[in-house]
Amino acid sequence: MRKNIVAGNWKMNKTLQEGTAFIAELKQTLAGKSLGCDVVIGAPFIHLATIAEQAKGSAIGIAAENCADKAEGAYTGEVSAAMVASTGARYVILGHSERRAYYGENDAILSEKLALALANGLTPIFCIGEVKEEREAGKHFEVVAQQLEGTVFGLSAEDFSKVVLAYEPVWAIGTGLTASSAQAQEVHAHVRQLIASKYSAQIAEDCTILYGGSCNASNAKELFGQPDIDGGLIGGASLSVEKFLPIIEAFNK
Ligand code: PEP
Repeated sequence: MRKNIVAGNWKMNKTLQEGTAFIAELKQTLAGKSLGCDVVIGAPFIHLATIAEQAKGSAIGIAAENCADKAEGAYTGEVSAAMVASTGARYVILGHSERRAYYGENDAILSEKLALALANGLTPIFCIGEVKEEREAGKHFEVVAQQLEGTVFGLSAEDFSKVVLAYEPVWAIGTGLTASSAQAQEVHAHVRQLIASKYSAQIAEDCTILYGGSCNASNAKELFGQPDIDGGLIGGASLSVEKFLPIIEAFNK
């Protein structure tokens, strides 16, 4: 069964003290509320063990924002999927456009990361999406198809079923430009169709596909109301509980 998820992505924001203060506030705010979605917070590596412990017994799941493409060894500064899992985090964001653009993460690297994340019991939140020029050239359907083909579509049906996808048009990330609900819905429907062709109609139906790109309190309800949008990956608006909570509460499916 596909899940509704609202996932924050703090990126390189918040000290450990700011992160723990946020989790304490969110945990208290959500306590006793009946939620229409799972809630995930994606945080820097150094926060993970502390906030995963803090979030125990709450509705909040914790995600890393990345993991290494190697299992272990002499890779100074890297953090493996096994290390992420050992903190109590249950998810890992992979393929974010910032990782692709600034750190050269290509399909081959992302395929290694996906395999290691899954082997260590983590749920990948795997990001795809076109840049502005590709959207303007009408290539967005083709681009997401290629991104899927080179990465998650290399997985077995069993492993693919454990992946959460996030469609994030790069031109909408951190820009204040949101894809309209119609623009987002048509790409989500296209992605679901591609999954059906690759695997099966049931696997496509069960796949959680999030939207990301300047999602906020004022547009979340309309976006999440689309038949193929199962929640959001939220950057800027996940940095304060005040902005994040209405997005969680927008979920009324
Ligand atoms: C993101 O970085 O995944 C994202 C969607 O950011 P923002 O919400 O700030 O556009």
